[in-house]
Amino acid sequence: MIAILLGAPGVGKGTQAALAAERHGWTHLSTGDLLREEVAAGSALGQEAKAFMDRGDLVPDQVMVNMVAERIAALPKDSVLLLDGFPRSLPQARALEAAAPSGSLGLALYFTASDEVLTARLLGRGRKDDTLEVIQHRLSVYRETTEPLVAFYRDRGLLREIESDREVDGIQKDVLDAVSAVLERPEPA
Ligand code: AMP
Repeated sequence: MIAILLGAPGVGKGTQAALAAERHGWTHLSTGDLLREEVAAGSALGQEAKAFMDRGDLVPDQVMVNMVAERIAALPKDSVLLLDGFPRSLPQARALEAAAPSGSLGLALYFTASDEVLTARLLGRGRKDDTLEVIQHRLSVYRETTEPLVAFYRDRGLLREIESDREVDGIQKDVLDAVSAVLERPEPA
């Protein structure tokens, strides 16, 4: 089953995904982490991606789709995949529907928090792409390009909202409950 983690940068979805994956043996795929590894390794892909990331822009869809499709194809059949940071645009979301095994998209967890909380968290993280200017740009790219996915997944009946301005454990419980509900659903006949 594939669970998509949606929400603005800084909302804490990466922290939640890493924790849930560790606790329950699920697979956590963070496209931001993958890209940062490529940049650190100095690969051709990393060099291409770096300029986009430094500005807070999105890396081109096709690069991202190839990266994720490869990993979905390699996934053991019964695994739970937490997809963190992908899709981030409608073309990516459509490509994911095409690449995912039929019926495997089970859930879109939508993490929410106020802009003040998001900005404070991003500034506190101290990453290189987390200066105030880049943060504000990333939030505006999010609103314009990624937020439409909320309606996209709501239309498909996959959206579950998780209010994320709370302590980690309360959020974690909601994540587990949402994933469990999908896993326990009887298979369609
Ligand atoms: P993240 O760690 O998820 O915030 O990602 C860090 C940066 O990597 C983003 O600001 C983008 O530049 C890039 N990135 C990560 N995932 C994607 C994606 N699905 N589409 C385009 N760019 C991405």
